Amino acid sequence: MAVKVCKFGGTSMADANVINIVKKIIDGDSQRRYIVVSAPGKRYSGDSKITDLLYACHGELNESGTCKKTFALVASRFTGIAAQLGLKIDIGAVLEQTRRRIDAEKSEDFTASRGEYLCARIIAEVLDAKFIDAEEVIFFNADGTLDGDRTYKAISAAAAGCSRAVFPGFYGCDVHGKVKTFSRGGSDITGSVVARAVNASLYENWTDVSGFLACDPNLVDSPRRIRSLSYKELRELSYMGANVLHSESIFPVRKANIPIQIRNTFRPQDEGTLILPISRYTHSGNIVTGIAGKKNFTVIFIEKSLMNKEVGFVRKVLSVLESENISVEHIPSGIDTMSLVISADALVGKLERVKEGIKRAVEPDTVRVIENIALVATVGHGMSSSVGTSARLFGAIAAADINVKMIDQGSSELNIIIGVDNDDYEKCIKAIYAEFFR
Ligand code: ASP
Repeated sequence: MAVKVCKFGGTSMADANVINIVKKIIDGDSQRRYIVVSAPGKRYSGDSKITDLLYACHGELNESGTCKKTFALVASRFTGIAAQLGLKIDIGAVLEQTRRRIDAEKSEDFTASRGEYLCARIIAEVLDAKFIDAEEVIFFNADGTLDGDRTYKAISAAAAGCSRAVFPGFYGCDVHGKVKTFSRGGSDITGSVVARAVNASLYENWTDVSGFLACDPNLVDSPRRIRSLSYKELRELSYMGANVLHSESIFPVRKANIPIQIRNTFRPQDEGTLILPISRYTHSGNIVTGIAGKKNFTVIFIEKSLMNKEVGFVRKVLSVLESENISVEHIPSGIDTMSLVISADALVGKLERVKEGIKRAVEPDTVRVIENIALVATVGHGMSSSVGTSARLFGAIAAADINVKMIDQGSSELNIIIGVDNDDYEKCIKAIYAEFFR
């Protein structure tokens, strides 16, 4: 029988009432057998996420040798949830054990992971399911990447024969046997890893929104929902800031062609957004699928006559960045020019050294730095096959009186990325949305 993996985010775990909705969702479909949970999130605006409290626990532990004070806040959330749900689990004992282990391990990753651990223990009882600790089935390599072979085998062995199992998201075990977390929001990756390991027919990712929207609803009033998109489109949009799903979570499922469906726990009747391999994807007829962007990039513009003839030029420039451990987001180039688009955060304290390094490495005619740049990506498979898309895009931006500082069309023709002043960011997204969606 086909099986589904369901990942529930922090807002779906926030209190006993939502957890009861989650139980109904799981009970409503016998294929929903493997569940991955995040730590409880905010119940209302101004509330704390459990994971944030746990990072604060680690801060307190560093300063005073124990996390007691802050952990009391974490404990009271879990005690309240367990009491409201009327669970048999001795949550007090589990919490005390957890706090002691946090104090003993003194590891930030271990501390941060406990929200998912505690939540999964509770949900396993609610669903009468086996609890499978991620520490025992998700393994990282020494370089921090996922050890896929070992992980997939361990998960499928642990899950074999159980009608239902619950996994805590966000963490696994490193090569030294210590708990290590993915980056923030990483339970989405756990869900994808479990889906791959059990060869799921679908990876359902339950959030608090009814899918991906064509752009940020804080910038445009009720933007259109995207009914389906390809893995590639998703990667482009989530990388550029559409943050419904962790941008790395497509990799495990993509290899096995498992679709992802974004669903809304609070509106389970909505069909959400389906993310599909390109072979199963038929685009909606819209030229543009979505628009996303991020602020605060720095562009290093390099000019040198006959750059194109100079063998090794790009390598030499990039090795300057490599020696500073800086990654580059985009490298638009011309015959005698090249630009490096870098997140401003990555250059803090390093910009002058990078400029000097480039001057020494390639002796350019000019090196210029342009700061406070926002990138806006317009994404869609439909764009490559329709004549005049760029003309419409740039026409709309010009009509809004926005100066374009950089253009990069991805080689897949799936996206056009433009750089504008941070101050023009909102206006730019609105103009592109109006052109292609209104
Ligand atoms: N709880 C973790 C975080 O807040 C992981 C997750 O929610 O996916 O980042």
